[in-house]
Amino acid sequence: MNIDDLVSRHRGMLEDSPLNQVAEWKAKHPGSKIVGCYPVYTPVELIHAAGILPVGILGGGNRLEIAHADSRFQSFVCSIVKSTLELGLTGSLDSLDGIVFHSICDPARNLASVFKRNFPRLQVDYIHFPQNMTSPHTENYLAAEYQKLRSSYEQLAGRHVTDDDLRNSICLYNEQRKLIRDLYRTRRETPQNLSTLETYVLTRIGTLIPPEEHIQVLRESTAALRHRDEKPKDRIKVVLEGSFCEQPPLELIESLEAAGCYILDDDFLLGWRWFEQDIPLDGEPIHNLARAYLHQSVYSGVKHDTRQPKAKHLIDKVRETGASAVVILAAKFCEPALFDYALYRRALEKEGIPHLYLEFEEKMWLFDKARTEVETFVESMLFD
Ligand code: SF4
Repeated sequence: MNIDDLVSRHRGMLEDSPLNQVAEWKAKHPGSKIVGCYPVYTPVELIHAAGILPVGILGGGNRLEIAHADSRFQSFVCSIVKSTLELGLTGSLDSLDGIVFHSICDPARNLASVFKRNFPRLQVDYIHFPQNMTSPHTENYLAAEYQKLRSSYEQLAGRHVTDDDLRNSICLYNEQRKLIRDLYRTRRETPQNLSTLETYVLTRIGTLIPPEEHIQVLRESTAALRHRDEKPKDRIKVVLEGSFCEQPPLELIESLEAAGCYILDDDFLLGWRWFEQDIPLDGEPIHNLARAYLHQSVYSGVKHDTRQPKAKHLIDKVRETGASAVVILAAKFCEPALFDYALYRRALEKEGIPHLYLEFEEKMWLFDKARTEVETFVESMLFD
């Protein structure tokens, strides 16, 4: 299959109702269990090692009408919190046996409690990620959090999870993440041959299907990409930042590119590509997962790490990719993204790197305004 066919097949699945995929998978695998993972990062290996399928619960997209959840939250809460509750209230999460939230922000924290109260059938787990990355106790603390999760999934699956089970799952997800990194590298080096939308579709489909299947999709895509050899267009090269949790609509990603940008790097679906190197397999797997979070994970607006300023990471990313500008694409009412923007803006101005700030909502339908803003920004750079 060529890359166009691969992407359009999977784009169709995402545009339909992504969670239908998950329900269909469950119907074909009677007795199986599924756990939903709210963004940003979940140690999916702990779920997979128990024989449970971890899937991404990444909001409702722009085809879901919010009819019930709006009245249960304040108006100044981001869309993904409301759409996730709406999915639950309208039965779209019925195929899940559990769901896991994390300490990323107050709305996500509250959503975990709302889920516990409203959906007693679901096993709701919660991870308190460390706020202090430098304490000598942090690794043991996080390993204990992960051990709690492992016991929880052992109970849900009704089976014991051995260290070897966990190592096998780490090995599998290492392979998946490596192939995603390869895809990102191809896009960064030859953006004319792989668009951001294509990269996104091929990555996001992996949040809905077993990792073994996703690895096959990624291998097929890598092979198909070898036959693509497009001429570069006259576009500016940018890094996109700010969409680490709520995801923008596919059409918005498409519009940004069509407006004249090659996006060399982004932070979409960040939790599914959380590690820059493989997680080691030797030693105690729970501690390896905890150490990887502390020392090998990417920066993000929801990871509290004072060892290096986030703005420095962004500037480094711009320099390393060879981008000439930054597009900040932040979800409306996302406090972590807005707090980061204040830091990013100061650092970008100091370094003389142009940037454009845009806000989005996952339920948005009209993209002309965003496209015009990007076109104006691109023109100001191309003809300056
Ligand atoms: S989009 Fe931002 S505010 Fe909303 S749940 Fe995610 S991190 Fe929290």
